[in-house]
Amino acid sequence: MSITSKPTLTSLQLQSPQTTDATLPVVETFHSLQGEGVHGGRSAFFIRLAGCSVGCQWCDTKVSWPQFNHPREPISSLVQAVREARNAGAGFVVITGGEPLHHDLTDLCCQLETEGLPLHLETSGVDGITGRFAWICLSPKRHHPPRSENLQCCHELKVVVHEPDDLSFALSMAAAATKAGNRPTLLLQPGWQSTAGQRLCLDFVRSNPGWQLSLQCHKWLGIR
Ligand code: SF4
Repeated sequence: MSITSKPTLTSLQLQSPQTTDATLPVVETFHSLQGEGVHGGRSAFFIRLAGCSVGCQWCDTKVSWPQFNHPREPISSLVQAVREARNAGAGFVVITGGEPLHHDLTDLCCQLETEGLPLHLETSGVDGITGRFAWICLSPKRHHPPRSENLQCCHELKVVVHEPDDLSFALSMAAAATKAGNRPTLLLQPGWQSTAGQRLCLDFVRSNPGWQLSLQCHKWLGIR
C-alpha cells in the first residue's frame, strides 16, 4: 500500500508559480505638459526611468544617472498611475530618463498598451529599442552617437546645440536618417541658457527651412 501524504500549506506555497511583478528604477512620474519637441504644449504623463551612462556635460537630470539610487517600482504601479493620468486628461505617455533604453521596455510597453494612450520614447539612441512606441524622439549626442538602426525608425530627430560642431553633427545625423530611408521631423534645440546655442539655432533654422526650432518651454515657464 502506498501512502500519499496530503500537501501541506507550506509545500503548496513552495510549489506555486511565483507571481513576480517586473520592476523598473524610477526617478519620478508626473502629469504635466510636454515642454519641448513636436508634441510640445500637449498634456502628457511622464515616467522618468533611472540610469544613464551617456554622460552629457550639460545634462539637466544628473540625478537620474545612478540607477541604484532610485527605488524600483512594479510596472503594475506605473500602469495604475497612467490610468489615473489618463482620467485626468493626459493625452500620451512619455518614457524618458536617464536613458530609458538601458532597460528592457518590452513588459512596460505591453502593460501600458492596455490603457490606450500613445506611448512616446525620449532617447539618445545608444541602445537598441525595446517595446513598441507610437512616437520616438531621438536626441543623439555628439560624444556618444546613436545606433544606426535608431536613426531609421525615429519620428523626431532633436539635436541640442551649444557650439558650431553641434550643427555639423545635426546635419550628419539627418543625412544618416535620410540615407536609411527615414524622414523624421528635424529639430534644433538650444542648450538651456546657452546664448551661443540660441544664436546658432536661430540663424540656422532661418536659412534651412527643413529644420524647426525646439524650445524647452517648461523651463521658460518654470514648470516641471
Ligand atoms: Fe542626461 Fe540624457 Fe545625456 Fe543621459 S543622455 S546624460 S539623461 S542628457
